[in-house]
Amino acid sequence: MWRCSCGGLLDLDGVRAAYEGFVAGDGPWSLWRYRAALPTIDGWEAVSLGEGMTPVAALRPGVTVKLDFLMPTLSYKDRGAVVLVAHAAALGVRRVVADSSGNAGTAIAAYARRAGIEAEVFVPAATSAKKVAQLQHYGATVRQVPGERAAAAEAAIDRVESSGAFYASHVYNPLFFQGTKTFAFELWEQHGGRLPSTVVLPAGNGTLLLGAAAGFTELVAAGLAARAPRLVAVQAQRCAPLGAAWRGQPPAAVEPTVAEGIAIAHPPRLAAMLAAVVASGGRVVEVSEEAIARARTGLAAAGIDVEPTAAAAWAAVDHLDEGESDGGVLVALSGAGLKAPAA
Ligand SMILES: *Cc1c(COP(=O)(O)O)cnc(C)c1O
Repeated sequence: MWRCSCGGLLDLDGVRAAYEGFVAGDGPWSLWRYRAALPTIDGWEAVSLGEGMTPVAALRPGVTVKLDFLMPTLSYKDRGAVVLVAHAAALGVRRVVADSSGNAGTAIAAYARRAGIEAEVFVPAATSAKKVAQLQHYGATVRQVPGERAAAAEAAIDRVESSGAFYASHVYNPLFFQGTKTFAFELWEQHGGRLPSTVVLPAGNGTLLLGAAAGFTELVAAGLAARAPRLVAVQAQRCAPLGAAWRGQPPAAVEPTVAEGIAIAHPPRLAAMLAAVVASGGRVVEVSEEAIARARTGLAAAGIDVEPTAAAAWAAVDHLDEGESDGGVLVALSGAGLKAPAA
């Protein structure tokens, strides 16, 4: 079951997080050191590839980046994929279906392969060739669907409905967000038990945004942090449904953007994404194609090569005002440059 019979989204309730487990800073050198704050998943050790514990680097005074693309499949999606696939494996699932602009499907394919699960992944026909090659290397059956990102999602859902396969959706399955929560926990630990005042994240379907927001909220609820950071969600000007919702306007027509990982015209969890941004006291920043290209080059000049979607988050730093920068800014860098064509 991947959504409610009424068509609504499923969320997890009643995950009893125990923080003592990682306050001590022990446990494996991977996101599984925070497993006391995750749902219990038997056999995760056999699925894990040591993901997480990605480095942070200070690029400017007061501005730090978290190199969250330094993951087994080169994007932060491994955080959610390992939790989701380990859960599927524990349930005895043999076949999964996923849809993706590339990176989520790649992450699901890698962990599924490791767990001995067959994966069929639907991607838009325009997905970067390198992401498709990566999917093929992991042994996934790749279905390239003409049209926009939504067409790939529809094709995957049709397949799930007709075949009865497990829908390993990073958007619908709430286990995925349990994995992305660990982004917040790592930040907290890496900053010696403190949090930056502003965190800048790319947002398409909101899997990093919502996971990080949940993690920060849990840290505050557990008394481990005084306040959660304000969340600055970054979208491409050409595809900004969250930006429109933030401004209280109807969504504008969507155009293709080089930031393929956040090119989501109708994110199913839009209301929750907006609520998370508002609750944090943050906002939505929209960046132009030119700014994304400049940001990619600028990061490379600092020694960091990311894909355009990740560069979009860096482009947003120029939009922050003094109040937002006070107390430290952390920017999530979500996908590796090797996944995208040369700039
Ligand atoms: C998936 C992805 C994003 C956006 O994640 P959403 O869950 O769609 O908000 C950002 N950057 C990269 C590199 C991605 O692969």
